[in-house]
Amino acid sequence: MIKCSFCGFPIEEETAQRGCSGCPFKGNCRNIKCPNCGFEMPEEPKWLKKLKGWGRKANG
Ligand SMILES: [Zn+2]
Repeated sequence: MIKCSFCGFPIEEETAQRGCSGCPFKGNCRNIKCPNCGFEMPEEPKWLKKLKGWGRKANG
């Protein structure tokens, strides 16, 4: 689960709509499209998620 960096809408990576199904970089671009606002963002690497998980405790 990630959050839209624009509106904060929670997005499931597995069911998320990929932003660029028609772009020439098909297969390379792994953008995720927010179903709420349509904002496209790159998929977060797992190591970054871990970092955020650790930070969450500190921030409450
Ligand atoms: Zn959004």
